[in-house]
Amino acid sequence: MKSLNLLDMYRNIIALPSISSTDPSWDQSNEQVIRLLADWFSQLGFEVEVTELPDLPGKFNLLATRGEGDGGLLLAGHTDTVPFDPGRWNKDPFKVTEEGNRLYGLGTIDMKGFFAFIVEALKDLDLSKLDKPIRILATADEETTMAGARAIASAMAIKPDYAVIGEPTGLVPVMMHKGHMSEAIRITGKSGHSSDPANGLNALEIMHQVMARLLDLQRQLKENYANTHFKVPQPTLNLGHIHGGDSPNRICACCELHFDMRPIPGVGPDELMGLLHHALEPIKEQYPGAVEVSHLHEPIPAYGTDPEAELVRAAAEITGHPAEAVNYCTEAPFIQQLGCQTIVLGPGHIAQAHQPDEYLDLSFVTPTVQVLQHLVKRFCLSK
Ligand SMILES: [Zn+2]
Repeated sequence: MKSLNLLDMYRNIIALPSISSTDPSWDQSNEQVIRLLADWFSQLGFEVEVTELPDLPGKFNLLATRGEGDGGLLLAGHTDTVPFDPGRWNKDPFKVTEEGNRLYGLGTIDMKGFFAFIVEALKDLDLSKLDKPIRILATADEETTMAGARAIASAMAIKPDYAVIGEPTGLVPVMMHKGHMSEAIRITGKSGHSSDPANGLNALEIMHQVMARLLDLQRQLKENYANTHFKVPQPTLNLGHIHGGDSPNRICACCELHFDMRPIPGVGPDELMGLLHHALEPIKEQYPGAVEVSHLHEPIPAYGTDPEAELVRAAAEITGHPAEAVNYCTEAPFIQQLGCQTIVLGPGHIAQAHQPDEYLDLSFVTPTVQVLQHLVKRFCLSK
């Protein structure tokens, strides 16, 4: 293990494509990355368990454990990357290029590289002295459905005390983010000639009422809820897309609206869906069977860890940065369901994620290794 240095590990893991995408022509298995991680962590004396996700052949989670019992520290991340735009990358996304104090490659910060950092941090610690277990979780499909993290949360097979997810936060601890919901409302009316409105049921006119209700709900959310850790304190509701009708002289038979909502900690997707259905109830009663609400994707809840929690305070102390709330989503709400204090903390800046020529700034290397070693010493190693 000592012979594997950080740069070699980066080269090896970035070279294994593991794109996840809702577009099947891009979507790939993450098996090769999982096998590489299984090899790395076995060499460090971890027990490795690889699980294929139910109904998702070729998509795997890995859980590696060193030490006995419950509790301890979970270091977590996703093994998939987003697709890349070949026309906009100047570097080979699957070959690490070192240039100008940067390592370029797809997944260098979001976030396959984090696993190389974990190995780099652990290989110099005496893991025979663990008094609490260390676990490594590597998930599938974070960039699409979060299926890997959802599977871990629903299995509830582990009970860590603390979890750190190594997404690129610029090595600033993150204790909170909003969730995300994408919803569709479809109005089914009845077409007819425009000369007599009684010939049909106009879906656009019903949608007009629906949108008025949604804007009302948007106002209520702003008036009734606030979490001042966020720049935009309330759960938001944004009308994003609409399509309906086909001709000025025909009564519109069908109209569909897409919108998103962003839950805040303590105001979950179920509560927001409840408010939505309540808002639409009078219209549904007036036009039975005409209004249909559905998820465009499975809701991602918000996530928040108590700012006074031990892990949040420790991370602030170790990194020298107070913990923040951010405006992007991670697997944290699912990992937190295991019952652990959870933060997001990792090398690289989120602004470089999902971008052409994604890179790790090498100035993160030493501080990241030190932060991980501090966390392991503090939460897993006997003094
Ligand atoms: Zn990520």
